[in-house]
Amino acid sequence: MYKILFSNILFLILSSQLSIIAQSKGFCGSGLIENHLIRERMIHNRDVEPVFLQRTGAIKYVPLNYLLTAKADGTGRLRYIKVLENICEINKIFQDQEISFYLKGIVDINNTFLYDDPSSTFGIAEITKQNKLYKNSINLFVASKANVSNPGVLAFYSPNGDYLVSEAAQVSTNGYVLAHEIGHYLSLAHTFYGWETTTYDCSQACPTSVSLGNINVAVEYVDRELLVNGKKHCLNSADGFCDTPADYNCGFGFNGCKWNGCFVDPENKGLDPDEANIMSYFLNNCHRYFSAEQKDAMARDYASAQRSHLKTPVHNPLPPVTEAPGSPSVDIKGYNSVSFKWNAVPNATHYILEYATVNLSNNSTYKNYIITRTDTTITNLTKGLKYQWRVTAFNFSNPCPKSIPTQLFNNSNFAVATDDHELVLDDVNILYLGDNKISINLNSNKASELYFNLFSIDGKFIHRKKIQIEAGSNNIINSLENSGIFIYQLQTNTNSFSGKLFAF
Ligand SMILES: [Zn+2]
Repeated sequence: MYKILFSNILFLILSSQLSIIAQSKGFCGSGLIENHLIRERMIHNRDVEPVFLQRTGAIKYVPLNYLLTAKADGTGRLRYIKVLENICEINKIFQDQEISFYLKGIVDINNTFLYDDPSSTFGIAEITKQNKLYKNSINLFVASKANVSNPGVLAFYSPNGDYLVSEAAQVSTNGYVLAHEIGHYLSLAHTFYGWETTTYDCSQACPTSVSLGNINVAVEYVDRELLVNGKKHCLNSADGFCDTPADYNCGFGFNGCKWNGCFVDPENKGLDPDEANIMSYFLNNCHRYFSAEQKDAMARDYASAQRSHLKTPVHNPLPPVTEAPGSPSVDIKGYNSVSFKWNAVPNATHYILEYATVNLSNNSTYKNYIITRTDTTITNLTKGLKYQWRVTAFNFSNPCPKSIPTQLFNNSNFAVATDDHELVLDDVNILYLGDNKISINLNSNKASELYFNLFSIDGKFIHRKKIQIEAGSNNIINSLENSGIFIYQLQTNTNSFSGKLFAF
């Protein structure tokens, strides 16, 4: 009975808020209950690790795994280039914290329930299953929407499942929405914690606490020096930080970055919230920074035993990629055999090849591939059409994209003869998924057997596995015994594909 009543109240409150806000911007889906759990962890870390953590100058490389969902037929998935743009922007926000997120992987998941609504029962079940497969990273699930029954939600952190969810539109060149969610992941509650579901009413006296169910939150005062039982009140009210001023969710529904509302604290002092704080709800491009105490809390959380899984994989960082691939070219043998080629770029371990008919913005014909080679042949383009294409160089340590300007070509009207008896593979790429798993992706013109051979970087044979492939697109998950840099070889009766495999 209590639960039903509780969820109804929550629904009514959220619905009334939604009608005001959903059209123009949106909000974070981590509510009061989630923020309560997040704040408990921050307090625990502070009690266990009370000493200020010294900056050492050493960069902490933190693994961030993007799990891009699509419908069961593979349609609707976010473009890979968006992941690179997003993580690049997030890293700028965290740069002054000696934190650098590296791309642990880009994982494609085809599951319509998850793609349509990651907050649905089936969506959550799939996330829970997938989340267990990638233990050594912060896992961000990207879907069409974050929560269909609460359409204003842009993204959220689930403290119970310990994962992030974002709607696809937020994985963009604006890194602040996901920086906010990563803040939650690293133990930061909202600056307005307590007011997620309670609306301030200027006609009433300000309460000294706000509550929902059995969660009771002390309301933060404007006065930073106020003491209660010899302790600073600001350390134990709202988000628990004294350098984030009192905020009763002033940003919610407010347009602009200079708040001028009527809210006063229980001592009748007017509020002056920090609109630029990333953990506030001033989502109108106001976000700029985390406070010093918030940064310390994130460093403590990262250092805590609970986050040891983020430190388990040893990451050997590569220098950033500084240039786009040179000499991009297209060799059109026939409309059914178009070869793309470019020069290798220093420090680039991977390339994104994108193409679409007429223009890259054409979603219905857009394709993108992550490949480790510097050439690839596509056999299923449409004859006689104009195509636009682009290649982007990157590596997983510093994943800022370096793209060539878009290129155009007119596809041939004529086919080249293909020998049906010969096995032809294309779109071959091997991707490290984390946790010593790799994904072998390729297209084949017929069913066949081939061998996956693995060598150490100095050419020593490590293992060989027979793989059964089918006609069409293949995605095979294989395991490695160790992480490291390897040379792989896919061997057929007639030829072989090989390349470097960076398994970190
Ligand atoms: Zn939030």
